[in-house]
Amino acid sequence: MKKWNLIIDVAKCHDCNNCFLACKDEYYDNDFPPYSVAQPRHGHRWMNIMRKERGGYPKVDVAFLPIPCMHCDDAHCMAKTKGDAIYKREDGIVLIDPEKAKGQKDIVDTCPYGAIWWNDEKAVPQKCTFCVHLLEEGWEQPRCVQACPTDAMRFIHCEDSEREKIIASEKLEIYQPQHKSKPHVFFQNLYRYTQCFIAGSVALQDTDECAEGAKVSVSKGNEKAFDEVLTNNYGDFKVDKLEESSGEYQLEVEYPGYETAKLSVDLKTSVTLGTIFL
Ligand code: SF4
Ligand code: SF4
Repeated sequence: MKKWNLIIDVAKCHDCNNCFLACKDEYYDNDFPPYSVAQPRHGHRWMNIMRKERGGYPKVDVAFLPIPCMHCDDAHCMAKTKGDAIYKREDGIVLIDPEKAKGQKDIVDTCPYGAIWWNDEKAVPQKCTFCVHLLEEGWEQPRCVQACPTDAMRFIHCEDSEREKIIASEKLEIYQPQHKSKPHVFFQNLYRYTQCFIAGSVALQDTDECAEGAKVSVSKGNEKAFDEVLTNNYGDFKVDKLEESSGEYQLEVEYPGYETAKLSVDLKTSVTLGTIFL
């Protein structure tokens, strides 16, 4: 049985909010029985774009992470809700039945991703449906995916075995795997949101020039250098995809004809070291 899956490339999301607006346009003031009742005009963000700033001046990186319902196979919302107010279809889509869930505000707190929203006026919990009413009419994409100007989102309909191949070949990840919920939403370049970097610049003390092509090696404890980068023509470097709060790292900066600089960084979050003079 083929199932629906969403792939989001964090590096391509520019926070334009077109996806959020397309969702609002589709669901505000529109009922799609039996799947959903109208979304309120304000408050709900069924496609919720999270923002994260990494580093500090002058090396700042901002990443945007669109978070819809993940349509989990092991959905916490289903497990924690009595009865069949929430159900999963054979095509992978998880839905909240607006009739059966009426009045059950507690359902909002069952999702570890915060993907369920409370509609005060209609007294129902609500969330992304992957635009199931459109898929049933033969559409191949939900409104958010159609509206994305940067192709940051792809919607695929495939067997699980095919999906596993795509996950492996494109190195896709899931967000917050600690929930063990087996989501149907996958991410590329997730490190832009979840991991951190060490950045800086290298310059030559005697000439006051940028040190282009300086080798920056990063190691941890007694481990051999696990990453090496060369500075660009401004003398800048960035070592990315490091775990936050992962302890002390040693850096060595080498440049022909100059004494190697050695320094250590106790990494908590992304850090910009400023200029290292050789
Ligand atoms: S993301 Fe949350 S609301 Fe969506 S299926 Fe998973 S647990 Fe349920
Ligand atoms: S439409 Fe695309 S680029 Fe714009 S916020 Fe949504 S995912 Fe990001």
